[in-house]
Amino acid sequence: MRVLVANLGSTSFKYRLYRIEGERADMLARGGFERVTDYGAVIDQAMDELASAGHGTIDAVGFKTVLGGGITGCLLADEKVEQALLDTADLAPAHNPPYAAGIRTFRERLPNVPRVALFETAFYQWVPPSAHRYAVPETWYQAGIRRYGFHGASHKFVAERSADLLGRADIAERARNLYIADPNHSASRTPHSPFRVISCHLGGSSSVTGIRDGVAIGASMGLSPQSGLPQNNRVGDLDSAGIPCAMRRLGLSLADAEKQLSKESGLLGLSGISNDLRDIKTAADKGDARAQLAIDVFIKSIRHWIGAFWVEMGGCDALVFTAGIGENNAWLRAAVCENLAGLGLALDPAKNAAGSPEQNLAASDSRTQVLVIPANEELVVARETARLIASLEKASTT
Ligand code: ADP
Repeated sequence: MRVLVANLGSTSFKYRLYRIEGERADMLARGGFERVTDYGAVIDQAMDELASAGHGTIDAVGFKTVLGGGITGCLLADEKVEQALLDTADLAPAHNPPYAAGIRTFRERLPNVPRVALFETAFYQWVPPSAHRYAVPETWYQAGIRRYGFHGASHKFVAERSADLLGRADIAERARNLYIADPNHSASRTPHSPFRVISCHLGGSSSVTGIRDGVAIGASMGLSPQSGLPQNNRVGDLDSAGIPCAMRRLGLSLADAEKQLSKESGLLGLSGISNDLRDIKTAADKGDARAQLAIDVFIKSIRHWIGAFWVEMGGCDALVFTAGIGENNAWLRAAVCENLAGLGLALDPAKNAAGSPEQNLAASDSRTQVLVIPANEELVVARETARLIASLEKASTT
C-alpha cells in the first residue's frame, strides 16, 4: 500500500510517500514547499512531482492531526474530523486550521483517495482520569478542559523502538498494535515483567511522557501544546492566576496576553535572544545571563517531569531522548542526567559525546538505559494509516 504522509504547517507543506507491506516500510519519495499561500496549488504540484517520478498511484493520505476535542485515535478524516479540528482551533491555533484546510483540499483534489487522521492525542487514550483531570468544576471538564497530551506519534515510536532495542519484543508488539480495534485490546494485557520508559521529545516543541509496558500513563503537555515544558516560543506551564494578573498589571487584553504566551514566551521569552536552542547556547557560552537562565529553566522542567513519571512508575528502565534538541545536544543530555546515580542511572560520557543517530548512552553498570532514538513520526502515521485502511477493506469484504 502506498501512503502519502502530509505534514501541514501554517505556511508549509511537506510530504513523504511510503510503501507499506506488513511491518516493512520503505520511503519512496519526499518533498516540500515553504511560504505556501494556496494549498490546492502545491498539492497539485506535489502530485505532479510524484507522478513524474513514477509514483502516480496513492492508496491513502495520512495526517498527523493535533487535537480533535472528543475525537481521537486513528480514523478516517471525514468532514466530522475537519469540523472537530476547526472547533478546537482555539487550543491549537498554529496546527488545527492548516490541517483542516489541507484535509479539505485533499478531499476536493483527490476525492477517491481515503484520508486518515492520526491524532497526536491518540497515544493517551488509556491515561486514567486521575492523570487527565484538572481540579476544575465539572462544567469545565464537560466543556473539554482536561489534559490531552500531545506528540503522540513521536512517543509511540519511542515506545516501539525502545522495546525493540532493549530486547522486549512483547512490549514492542503491544505498542505497535495499540490502535487496532480489538475487543481483547493489547493495552489491557499485562506482560510478565514491567517495562518503564520515560520519553523526552525535545525539539521545536517539547514534551515528556511516561510509558508503562508500551502504553502512555501521562504527559507533560496537558490541555494544549503550550503547556508542560517551556516551548520554543510558547509558554509551557503557567499558574492560571498569571493571565488575569498580567492583564491587570500590564493593561493587556486577553488577545494580547494569548499572543504573548503563544509567540513571545518559552525559550524566546526567557532568553530574549532566539527560539532556537543553538543560538541560546552560543550566547550562554559567551556569558549571556538570560540565555543561561533559559537553558537552566528548560533543564529543570525536563527533570521535573522525569521525576514525576519515575515515581509514578516506581522506576525507569529506559530514559529516551528524541527530536532536534534531544538527538543533537550531548551537553543537554548530560545536564538532564546529572546526579541520578542514586536512582541507578549513569551516563557513559564518551558514548554521550559520540551521540550517533541511534545509541544506548548508559554506562555499563547503569540500571536505567539511556537511549537516543531519532524521531520518526511520519513512519508511525504511514503505518497506522495503512493498518486502518487494510482493516476497513477487510471488514468491507467479509
Ligand atoms: P521541530 O519540532 O520544528 O520539528 P526539531 O525537532 O528539529 O524541530 O527541533 C528544533 C530544535 O532542535 C532547535 O531548538 C534546534 O536548536 C535543535 N537542533 C536541531 N538540529 C540541531 C543540531 N544539529 N544541533 C543542535 N541542535 C539542533
